[in-house]
Amino acid sequence: MLEVYKGLSFDNIDGGVWKQGWRIEVDEKDWNKHNKLKVFVVPHSHNDPGWIKTVEEYYTTQTKHILDNMLSKLPEDPRRKFIWAEISYFAMWWDELEDDDKEKVKRLLRANQLEIVTGGWVMNDEANSHWVSVVHQLTEGHQWLQRNLNYTPLSHWSIDPFGMSLTQPALLKEMGLQNMLIHRIHYSVKKKLALNKNLEFRWRQLWDGKGKTEMFTHMMPFYSYDIPHTCGPDPKICCQFDFKRLPNHGVHCPWRVPPQVITEKKCRRKLLLDQYRKKSKLFKTNVVLVPLGDDFRYDHPSEWEVQYENYQRLFDYMNHNLNLNVKAQFGTLSDYFAALRKEMKVSEFPVLSGDFFTYADRDDHYWSGYYTSRPFYKRMDRVLLSYIRAAESIYGLAYFSKKPGYSWIVDKEVGLEKLISNARQALSLFQHHDGITGTEKDHVVVDYGKRMLSAINSCQRIIQICTHILLNGLEAEVPDKDVNYYNIDDVRHSHNALPEHYQITIGVPELRTKSVVIYNPLTFTRHEVVTFYVSTPFIELTDFKGKRIHCQISPIFEYGSTMSMTKFLLSFVANIPALGLVSYTVNAVLENELPSETVLAKVKIFNHYGDVQAPNGFIPDISPIPNEFTLQNSRVTASFSKIGLLKALKIRKTTVPVHLDFAQYGTRMIHNLESSGAYLFLPDKEDAVPLKIENVGVNVIEGVVLSTVMVQLPYVHHTAVLYNTSGADSLGLEIQNVVDITKTNNFELVMRLSTNINSSDEFFTDLNGFQIIRRKRFKKLPLQANYYPIPTMAYIEDKQTRLTIVTGSPLGCSSLYPGQIEVMLDRRLNQDDNLGLNQGVMDNHPTRHIFRILLEQVTHALRRKITPAGFPSLSAHVASQSLLNPLVRMLRVKDEDVVSKGAYTTVDHEFGVDFSFAYPPTERLHKRKIVYGFGRPSSICRHRVLLQQFPLSHGTVNITGLLALDPSKRLHKSSLSFSLVKNEVDGKGNLPMCPMEMQAFVI
Ligand SMILES: [Zn+2]
Repeated sequence: MLEVYKGLSFDNIDGGVWKQGWRIEVDEKDWNKHNKLKVFVVPHSHNDPGWIKTVEEYYTTQTKHILDNMLSKLPEDPRRKFIWAEISYFAMWWDELEDDDKEKVKRLLRANQLEIVTGGWVMNDEANSHWVSVVHQLTEGHQWLQRNLNYTPLSHWSIDPFGMSLTQPALLKEMGLQNMLIHRIHYSVKKKLALNKNLEFRWRQLWDGKGKTEMFTHMMPFYSYDIPHTCGPDPKICCQFDFKRLPNHGVHCPWRVPPQVITEKKCRRKLLLDQYRKKSKLFKTNVVLVPLGDDFRYDHPSEWEVQYENYQRLFDYMNHNLNLNVKAQFGTLSDYFAALRKEMKVSEFPVLSGDFFTYADRDDHYWSGYYTSRPFYKRMDRVLLSYIRAAESIYGLAYFSKKPGYSWIVDKEVGLEKLISNARQALSLFQHHDGITGTEKDHVVVDYGKRMLSAINSCQRIIQICTHILLNGLEAEVPDKDVNYYNIDDVRHSHNALPEHYQITIGVPELRTKSVVIYNPLTFTRHEVVTFYVSTPFIELTDFKGKRIHCQISPIFEYGSTMSMTKFLLSFVANIPALGLVSYTVNAVLENELPSETVLAKVKIFNHYGDVQAPNGFIPDISPIPNEFTLQNSRVTASFSKIGLLKALKIRKTTVPVHLDFAQYGTRMIHNLESSGAYLFLPDKEDAVPLKIENVGVNVIEGVVLSTVMVQLPYVHHTAVLYNTSGADSLGLEIQNVVDITKTNNFELVMRLSTNINSSDEFFTDLNGFQIIRRKRFKKLPLQANYYPIPTMAYIEDKQTRLTIVTGSPLGCSSLYPGQIEVMLDRRLNQDDNLGLNQGVMDNHPTRHIFRILLEQVTHALRRKITPAGFPSLSAHVASQSLLNPLVRMLRVKDEDVVSKGAYTTVDHEFGVDFSFAYPPTERLHKRKIVYGFGRPSSICRHRVLLQQFPLSHGTVNITGLLALDPSKRLHKSSLSFSLVKNEVDGKGNLPMCPMEMQAFVI
């Protein structure tokens, strides 16, 4: 695709009736009785699970009626067909059906009158979503279909997501789907592909040389998926064949020619056939696909009647006139693909690789605003994903441990399965293309937020209970499921507020100790910093064997340079094995008994006049003048400017200037032209304007465990942290920005990193945290077209150096100058951008974004030949894994607990950091039908030295070893959503896994 972009002029020439195309000519003689045009008209209804209304509101007012009508109207004529995509709605409807209606649905499916396309919980967004969440949402739908209808989808239907990711076909292929249809793609790309009849192709992964990953793909050619833009190139004519727009049905044709009822006299079949014929000229075969539907269509019985009856008459009149050489009929999506495959072998279609970002529907309307809109909830999505991973893995560990309580957690009535299932559904729902995208009404995003909050709390509950089961000595009683044994140190009271943390209140002589427990949800050992608030600086920290541990106590700045007298930050390096639980004990000591292992941090305050009252034990170094300074750990030295912002990074002996700054965009305000909104980014200038920052106080903490710089800037509370560990958190500099733009108007805030890296016009961004793709900045395109999604990371490089930014929130980013990376942090827009939402984005909340900035020398391993794919470095991969899956920190509720063990781990060897345990035990544990997913999603650049700290797998996985399974258990491979069970494999042995491969197993 990058090559296509290089060749395109993006000239946007007016093509006439097909504005973004050209005048298509047809010759009737192209068809004869041996070579008929085969037309499949596919009725559909696009149902957003939340957009203008919440999912519940849509269901009761519209969707329920659509599905009810389907049930009564499809059986009236066996020639009628219908397709459905969103299983979230289908499941709601199914639960209300009587048994004989359920049988009716099954009959319609068997008779191929109804097809379930894709079968996901939602039609997921492809820009911001994480691949594991996409797997979750597809699995949620596929498992539902299998359980209730014994049905496996064959074809994928994605008509509304705003740009298409290459990760989607990779996942669908592994789930056994065979065809896909995509729509929202840049109009110039569509035109280019249409000119060469390349709108149908084999979509192949960038790393795939052999074609193993190819998916057969149909790209819709025209502007929209509504009826005026699907029958052929002329919307004025196609609109006359949308019979819902007949007079008195409430909808009209903007081209001012209404439809007419089809009768023998006025059959108008030639008018429509001409459009079908013209459309067929854009494709290689004689089979034409004509979707017939729109948003929430077919909600009234009369619409079913006018559409199905008039079209059936049209088909009859066309088919009976043999001179027309056409066979037109209703069809499902798979009917179309089957007919097409009969005419031409899939292997004869061209191969295409790459993705379809950034989408533009017309002119300079690039949909790159939604990469960042509502970033508070985008961050929440990643938090929920990490909790689901932690909850699922610990749930599986607790079950296999056979410890007291293991059986009730899988009990159908009182167990934890429902909590996990609800959490998965909340995450799945938010993957919808008006969910995580931030393009929904205010009250709808609140609905998603509340569901996600409840899901996070459910996951916390599971982790609390399972931790108790795992650490419980065998002599202890079966846990009381209503008692809370552990508090997770991440308290979320509201769907739109930042989390709060507990404070460990201890002292001498009472309340002397407090135990904390850390859980590592990843499959590799972690040596990373954890922090807790404590009420006194005078503590000693011991591990579960009673050995003292090095720790650091830092003061907490509450406002400006004012420090808390009652609250301190305890930090230490926790060593937690893969999928392990380890406890530590915090003991209060007298001031004069402070052990040498406990070190109080050094405090420096720059640009501050006068005294600062410091808590007992701390002597701050106060300077009235601003200063430049450096912080370092064993890997990196970071230099900061007088205003406390990063200036340079040094690794080994190489120093690279890395200037961090913040800048803003406004929105263009030109009469009759759109301004920025939830979807569109239409900046007012060709460059962001740097924020004016002067005279800020800079607070610095230096210590053995971590060092930090804190500054309060306009709109951003900015913190840079350097961890001193041998783990993933120390590989670069961590940046935490608490962003608050609630008092601005038409304001978009970006963070920029400017370096001397000679990256010319190239940069790399990831797709769904699954793979990395090369991007090129084009001068021929406006700024907003050069913006791309950054779901987990982006990097720039030259022959010597690579700079990677790893993010904990999916956002929008670009590289607008050589050596520079820009990430958008938040946007506040006062107006609608005319794409149907009918409101601006004004519901911003203070939002915490976390980034890790990694500077690396380009070694032999990083240097690869020029390919459209990029590869994360080993450091970037582990930094991202650890950022997205933080260690879970818990406080034991009962201090006098003597029964619980200090640690739990079953994994006796390392699995390799490149290996990802995507989602462990899912439903029906109690029926012993347990399913596991594994993945090695990243092809990683190896690094000789780092490999000792972060060993890679040897390309194999041993499942029984990971889960401490009974080795006699039979293990089968399955499709990625567990719908198709395949051959039996030897679970005891090492199963081979290639880079970028995903595998799922059923036990
Ligand atoms: Zn939609």
